[in-house]
Amino acid sequence: MKSSILSSTLLCLALLGTLITGLFAQGEFTVTFFDVKIHGLCAVLKTPSGKTWVVDTARGPDKGFLAARDVIAPFLERTGVKALDGIVISHPHGDHYGGLPFFIEKYKIGQLVDGGYKEMSGGEIEGYRKIRATYVDGGGTSVFVKTGDKIQLDPDLDAEILWPPPGLYRSERITKDGEPYNYNGNSVALRVRHGANVFLFPGDNHGIAGVAKFVDPEKIKCDLLVVPHHGLNSNATMAEATKPKYAIVSSLKEYNTPAIHPYELTKEAFEPVGSKVYATWAHGDITAVSDGKTIKITTSRQP
Ligand SMILES: [Zn+2]
Repeated sequence: MKSSILSSTLLCLALLGTLITGLFAQGEFTVTFFDVKIHGLCAVLKTPSGKTWVVDTARGPDKGFLAARDVIAPFLERTGVKALDGIVISHPHGDHYGGLPFFIEKYKIGQLVDGGYKEMSGGEIEGYRKIRATYVDGGGTSVFVKTGDKIQLDPDLDAEILWPPPGLYRSERITKDGEPYNYNGNSVALRVRHGANVFLFPGDNHGIAGVAKFVDPEKIKCDLLVVPHHGLNSNATMAEATKPKYAIVSSLKEYNTPAIHPYELTKEAFEPVGSKVYATWAHGDITAVSDGKTIKITTSRQP
């Protein structure tokens, strides 16, 4: 008798477990890309079980404006976020890590993930090292990642690091920072799979098509691509290697003199492979919601 009660109880627990797993499996994965007003990138990831991750933090203070404080924090407030489960910094350039000091001061952050960048010594790396040290001194957890590592974003997401390789990628050419490590080319490339949907965050690595020589090229294919380097280097090879349904460009209308128009450039490169292209300057904040089967995009304005 006792054993039959026990087995019924176990059966009920098993059913309940399946039900809960089923519910979580139906949870949505939401990524919001922000119109950060000046050249930079910041995305907020809301996972199916409600965790909040930030990928890049946009630029630091500029003429009284700070995207982290003036754009991202109000969004987090509106959506009830009081702490961050983690932040990923794709590479040590100010338009990606500039908002980090604000986040460190305002939020408890579960972990700070980056490519380590131990080998780098020029350019903006020192500024980034200081910020990371402040975070670690305050008791924060710093995690270095490389090709093949997995990060635990959520039980319903598979999050894999495609790049950089161990010891970083050393190029033949010495960069303007005076070293063989190209900062953009060593960006952390994060691949997040939610059910059938793959999101690719390659940082500023506009050589992402070349990464396919080092990892399974199928892993570079995605449903949503954060177009590398703000769309400034979009080309047919990149589009062919990634073939996304949605290509998101975090950029201004134009950049540099003579002006490059990253939205136009990306449309030209990606529309032939069937991608729908969005740009933050034109569409405002761009939200992608995945139910594990399809992705729905909404934007805060129409171009
Ligand atoms: Zn950038």
